[in-house]
Parts: sequence; structure tokens; C-alpha cells
Amino acid sequence: MGLFRTKGIVLRSIKLSETDKLVTFMTEHFGKVKCVARGARKIKSRYAGSLEPMSYVHLIYFGKENQQLYSLNNSDIIESFHLVRDNFQKLYTGIYLNELVDAMTAEVQEEKEIFQLLFDSLCALSNQCNLETLCRMFEIRILSLSGHKPELHHCTVCRNSAINGWIGFSYQKRGIVCNRCMKNTVAEIKFTTGTLNYLKKLLTLDINCSGRLKFPRGMDEEVEKVTHRLILAYVGRELKSYPFIKTMADVK
Ligand SMILES: [Zn+2]
Repeated sequence: MGLFRTKGIVLRSIKLSETDKLVTFMTEHFGKVKCVARGARKIKSRYAGSLEPMSYVHLIYFGKENQQLYSLNNSDIIESFHLVRDNFQKLYTGIYLNELVDAMTAEVQEEKEIFQLLFDSLCALSNQCNLETLCRMFEIRILSLSGHKPELHHCTVCRNSAINGWIGFSYQKRGIVCNRCMKNTVAEIKFTTGTLNYLKKLLTLDINCSGRLKFPRGMDEEVEKVTHRLILAYVGRELKSYPFIKTMADVK
């Protein structure tokens, strides 16, 4: 039996019984971990608000190594991300990021970079309102960290890197296709070098500066067609929170 201490972000918290909750954390050192929080649904629970989704906490849990379900011993809030929680659109964006991490990681497998990506993105979400760019940035980066980075530097058919004019994107090849190769290869979408440059920037720009990267009209949809559709192909289904953030963005 081991006792584990680490920092973590609450991904999901669900009712397990009248008094207990089942909480999924993305931890700094042990990857995704599920814990039973006994008594967490009682009014005077010692966990207070520390098990709400997106809470960044110090946690202590115990159980056998590599088991599926651990017992939560303690959870103390370091940062509640209240600025995200207080704004409906930010809240759903945060839930979407959490959902992506949950869907794209296996349990008890160290994912330090994905943990850091989630933490940095929640900080950025607190401080800025350009949520669309942040979502696209998160999508393309979590794909990259999961070994599914799209090829944006040379044609996936002829390997040519000097690409101009219209560029195709093939979901099957997970990358760009040059004008010449488009005659013989299925490229589901076509865009200009401008959109390609935005896609490249999403991979390199500091997440804290994502608020400054605004897509010109029309380009936002092209970028989304690449990053979000690659997510759908990887996860195999639409994420539950996604239609909510789309509807809210349309109303705005
Ligand atoms: Zn080519």
C-alpha cells in the first residue's frame, strides 16, 4: 500500500453514493488518477470546494500502485480558478479542455507535459477573453503531445517543403498536400499559406500570449476544421461540452 502526494487538477467529479464522490485528477507526477472521496457529498465535508472541476490542489491519496481506484486522503486548494468559474463562456471552455485531457490520456501514466499544458491554459483562460484561439491552440498541442502532430512543414505525399498558393489538408495523411499532389490525393479542405502560418503559430506561441493571436474572418473556421476534426478522428466522438461553447460563441 502506498501513500502518494502530488499536485493535481480536478478533471471530473461525479456522485458515487449518497455520501461519496468519484474524482478524476490529472496529477503532476502520476498522470491521470481516479480517487474515491469518502464523505465528500456531506454538507460539512472536509474537502469543501476542493473537488470542483478545474480546482488546482495539493492531494494525498493511497492504494496499491497502478490500481484503478485510489482512496483520497486529503485535498487542499492552491488555486480555484474562480475567474474561469464566474464567466459562463470561460467555464464551458475550461470544461472542454478538461474533457479533452480526460478523453486523450490513459490512467496512471506520467503525462507531465499534458499536465503543464492544462495548467498553463487554465491560467490563460483566467486572464484573457480570446477563447477561440486558446481552444485551437490546446487542440493542436494536445494532439502533438499524444503523438498525433499534424505535418505542416512539407507535403505528406512528395515531401516538398516549398509550398505556395493553395494548400490541401488530408485527414487520412494528417498533414498538408501541395497543389501538384492534390490532383491524385484526397485533400478534404483547401486553404492559403496565411492559414498555414496561423496553424504553425498555434504550435510555437507562448500560451500566455494566445489572447493576442486573432484569426482574420474565415480563417478561424479553416483552422478549426483542421484542429477540431483531428481531435474527433483521435477520440472517435464529439466532446459533450463542445456544442455549448459553439452556441455561446455564435450568440456573442
Ligand atoms: Zn506534394
